[in-house]
Amino acid sequence: MSNTMYGLPEKIVFCKRCIMSNQRPSSIPEFLHKPDREGAQYLHLDEEGVCDACRYAEIKERIDWETREQELLELLDQYRSKDGSYDCLVPGSGGKDSAYAAHLLKYKYGMHPLTVTWPPILYTDYGYRNWKNWVEIGGFDNVVFKPNGRMHRLLTKLSIQNLLHPFQTFVLGQKNLAPKMAANFGLKLVFYGENEAEYGNPIADNTTAMRDRSYWVMKNLNELYLAGMPVPELMDKHDVTLGDLKAYLPAPAEVIEKADIDVRYLGYYIKWTPQEAFYYAEEHTGFQARPFRTEGTYSKYNSIDDKIDDLHYYTTHIKFGIGRTTYDASQEIRNHHVTREEGLALAKQFDGERPKRYLNEVLDYIELSEEKFDELCDRFRSPHLWKRENGEWKLRHASWEQDA
Ligand SMILES: [Zn+2]
Repeated sequence: MSNTMYGLPEKIVFCKRCIMSNQRPSSIPEFLHKPDREGAQYLHLDEEGVCDACRYAEIKERIDWETREQELLELLDQYRSKDGSYDCLVPGSGGKDSAYAAHLLKYKYGMHPLTVTWPPILYTDYGYRNWKNWVEIGGFDNVVFKPNGRMHRLLTKLSIQNLLHPFQTFVLGQKNLAPKMAANFGLKLVFYGENEAEYGNPIADNTTAMRDRSYWVMKNLNELYLAGMPVPELMDKHDVTLGDLKAYLPAPAEVIEKADIDVRYLGYYIKWTPQEAFYYAEEHTGFQARPFRTEGTYSKYNSIDDKIDDLHYYTTHIKFGIGRTTYDASQEIRNHHVTREEGLALAKQFDGERPKRYLNEVLDYIELSEEKFDELCDRFRSPHLWKRENGEWKLRHASWEQDA
């Protein structure tokens, strides 16, 4: 009998280059996310003990970016409008990456992007200001789609209860809204910034500019899951209608087929590093880092728009033993901004730190006491990752201990 939950690999191995472990889940279509993570894949490490994300970072250093930019120019020439009407769509909620993407497309490449926002579940003041600055200082038309607040709370609550996944409602909108809005506005081209598959999916997922339709197109409603429940069961048990759920569901395949929409990554065509995106957004769209460190990590400018985000990474630490510092430092090690030794020291210091700043507000939102929340968390700790010592949970294998 396996000792692990969610089909996690039983033996915990850390990449020799970054500090990520083989417990990192690859991204899957969010609407197929089940409580047991059936079919989940985890980060692959090769015979030399190097992970796919680090291998892809190597490949990235050898890419001929001039040729890639040329490909982008040719693509944009086919879509650019002559009369100034919108010719592409850029989704974003006020983060540095969407600010960077939209600004490049409009002011460097002469496109006419419409920006679209699926707002964070609980906006931080900094996130809200960055969104406003993006539109006002950056200079873009923007459509905000604010989903039904009652449904949003219910689904966020259920995804925490059933999946310990505080961020699911945001992720669903972040992936599904843009293609649907593109269909509404008659736009065929959607641009995201970087490809999140770079950080842990099989390398083959990164060799294309396009996001696979399986991530944002719906074939059969009855096969989809929301908050870890089959959609028909969710409707039945919680007395919600299909109409209530539509905002969270992907576009039907036939609509996308007919509208001929492609979802692409700008990060395929131009060399994308989060730090560069930050500097660019700061200069051109009034983006501001938070003056304080984000709890659970050392950084000040990554994903700072949603109060629930800090809790999200707290839960990845519980489910996979991987906290926010490990994500941030691994990425920065690959970009040569910190060394592996520094990364390990940072992880030791901050990984899994309890996010206290917004915790009460988030728990009020999902109507859960702190005690119940902790009980819930404990049900999601896989025994191969965690042990109880002197009344405290402790990782059996921490990256900084393995390598000491
Ligand atoms: Zn690695």
